[in-house]
Amino acid sequence: MLSERMKRLTPYVPGEQPKIKGLIKLNTNENPYPPCEGVNKVLKDTDPASLRLYPDPLCTELKESISRRYGVRPEQVFVSNGSDELLAFSFYAFFDSGWGPLLFPDITYSFYPVYCRLYNIDYREIPLKEDFSISVDEYLKVSNYSGIIFPNPNAPTGIALGLTSIKYLLDRTNPDRVVIIDEAYVDFGAESAIGLLDSYPNLLIIKTMSKAYSLAGMRIGYSFGNKRLIDAVTTVKDSFNSYPVSRLGQVMAARAFDDYSYHLSTCKRIMETRESMIRGLRKIGWDCLDSKSNFVFARHPSMEGRDVLARLREHKILVRHFTTPRIDRWLRISIGTNEETDMLLQACGELSHD
Ligand code: PMP
Repeated sequence: MLSERMKRLTPYVPGEQPKIKGLIKLNTNENPYPPCEGVNKVLKDTDPASLRLYPDPLCTELKESISRRYGVRPEQVFVSNGSDELLAFSFYAFFDSGWGPLLFPDITYSFYPVYCRLYNIDYREIPLKEDFSISVDEYLKVSNYSGIIFPNPNAPTGIALGLTSIKYLLDRTNPDRVVIIDEAYVDFGAESAIGLLDSYPNLLIIKTMSKAYSLAGMRIGYSFGNKRLIDAVTTVKDSFNSYPVSRLGQVMAARAFDDYSYHLSTCKRIMETRESMIRGLRKIGWDCLDSKSNFVFARHPSMEGRDVLARLREHKILVRHFTTPRIDRWLRISIGTNEETDMLLQACGELSHD
């Protein structure tokens, strides 16, 4: 009854979404603030009768909003049902084992190896440096590869790679291989590679509205690239699902892009809270990496990661722990409101005194 293909799969395990009253949920990097007022207005003004009709399969209005907001041409834009779906389309469209492995960091977004297994794509994990930063030179040592992908900032470390290093990499990679930069968290202080699009036709930038636009529940991902790359992901989409982005999703996302100042102000608040969280954790003796994202990667001075996870849970605080060898003592903690951060720091402080 089950295909051999299916039996080989090991799915990605998303962070929990428990329904616990009073829970401080810092485990899936959601935005603690609501979407902008324009999104609220769409909810209030939408005539339910309009939902009889399929959405625009081309997301025309939304692509125009994105083009206006980012100064790119609509044909350089693609929109999807969350950026995970966009990653899935892109892996299908661009990476082929016959050309060599796909390269990505050994510590990174754990969905990448899942898509590789889904499509039977060889991959090679390139170790991060001792300080958890990406070593561009290690990628350049590999002569045959089907492509390169990494998040910038990386997840779950939160460490960003500067534009100079990205340009250095792009200048030396095979122009026939696609380089994907997953900018899910770029709006929290890192540099976007969007300005490099016209110089590198093999560059695809993937972004999401789940984090910096408070729309995780709407599932909107988008990407920027040369028309040839955008046409390719569109072909995969149209071979899979013609209408991945709902009517409501398209209009809400367009309104969220139009309200740039709200977007900037919530990102700013999150970055300020992040800096005070980092200071607070370091003050009580935790190791904490510098972060350019809406989470921090931190470890207790002596306790095991899974024990800290369990103890924080007793305080109704949920954070994310990965059992991967190099990082099993670390926790990824999303940035919540200032109040949530104070409660987290208090709970962490109590652990530190044990
Ligand atoms: N890329 C990275 C690096 C992520 O952490 C996430 C969130 N889990 C995604 C992509 C996917 O985000 P979404 O599907 O919500 O757009």
